[in-house]
Amino acid sequence: MTELLYQTDSYTKEFDANIISVLLAERAVILDRTAFYPGGGGQPCDFGTLTVAGVTYPVAKVKKQGDDVLHFLGGDLSLPSVGSPSRGTLDWARRYELMRTHTALHVLCGTVFRDYGALVTGGDMEPLKGRMDFEFETMRGELVREIEAAVNREAAQSREVRVKILPREEAFQIPDLIRTKINLLPEGIMQVRTVEIVGLDLQADGGTHVHNTNEVGIIRVVDYKSKGAINKRLYIEIE
Ligand SMILES: [Zn+2]
Repeated sequence: MTELLYQTDSYTKEFDANIISVLLAERAVILDRTAFYPGGGGQPCDFGTLTVAGVTYPVAKVKKQGDDVLHFLGGDLSLPSVGSPSRGTLDWARRYELMRTHTALHVLCGTVFRDYGALVTGGDMEPLKGRMDFEFETMRGELVREIEAAVNREAAQSREVRVKILPREEAFQIPDLIRTKINLLPEGIMQVRTVEIVGLDLQADGGTHVHNTNEVGIIRVVDYKSKGAINKRLYIEIE
């Protein structure tokens, strides 16, 4: 089982951990704790390096498997052994761009729901770019400009972003969480992580976010597309 450091502190860039398992065929190691985000909820996984006994391996991919996080080591150096102390270092430039992008998408989601009552049906991101699908019947250029102005006003409000881990029962009492389909969470999950942009948006979410919307930057809504009668897709870029 891997302790997920990124869940409680998304700003951890370097960390020490022990290797608890080595998967030779996959060239992957499982650590007892990690700050590497394994991907999920539209946010891609982190990259970086893992240094063990003076040898630095590229971390080429990270994936969650049950309660473990697998770190796939690139290159062809022989793999480290179980029990070795290691130091993980994130590609922080990429991760921080993803944090800004992820928070920007929540600002978008919260603003569009507040102003138009439109629910999100999906989303995806890469560093400084993202898209989000809404249940929205009509979308046109003027509306896109209006949404863009509103999201930038919200981001500029310096709204705090708060992360909490709540018991399932408590989370299910929060009416705002229902609209982000918290009711679809598998029954076995006893704790729910919530990400709140204070005064704007509250979601059950596993991703990494900035502490304050003033870190996001300028949000551009660069395109929009119809994905069926009631689904509209907005594309954003962050400057
Ligand atoms: Zn999210």
